[in-house]
Amino acid sequence: MPGQMAGGGCIFCNIARGEAPAHIVYEDDSVAVFLDIYPVEKGHLLVIPRSHYESVADAPPRVAARVFATAAALARLYREALGAPGVNVVANSGRPAGQEVFHFHVHVIPRWRGGGWRTLFMRHRLTEDEAREVLEMWRPLRGSIGEYVRGAFMPG
Ligand code: 5GP
Ligand code: ZN
Repeated sequence: MPGQMAGGGCIFCNIARGEAPAHIVYEDDSVAVFLDIYPVEKGHLLVIPRSHYESVADAPPRVAARVFATAAALARLYREALGAPGVNVVANSGRPAGQEVFHFHVHVIPRWRGGGWRTLFMRHRLTEDEAREVLEMWRPLRGSIGEYVRGAFMPG
């Protein structure tokens, strides 16, 4: 059962432990944020808890709250600091909902061009140039993510 993996076979557990490569935008004691390898748009991020739960429907409330608070921080900063006119925040739970990786994660997808739901399935392979650009974009904002999650975020 995929959800019962302690982490050895779970790619996102391995990323959280630093044992598999990923472009990490932000991390703290409970979550990690990294670039999706098949972004819908430039800057498509995934937020995961460090601990393994199969999906949003399996995580305890404090874990779900921490992951969604981080996703909310990213959505706000995409809009306020990085100029994205729209952002999708999405959690797929279960295979029929399109979940492919069975370690709870939330997608944060900035929408620079629009297109809404229809274009959520048009992906491209992340390039190294694109990854570098997104990491640079987020570097000065890392502190603000932590501030938001701790309730100390002051916009502007
Ligand atoms: P799901 O369909 O489960 O909600 O989303 C899983 C996401 O994880 C997909 O968007 C997919 O591109 C991404 N993904 C799958 N494997 C890896 C990986 O090894 N590294 C990274 N960075 N993203 C991955
Ligand atoms: Zn895992």
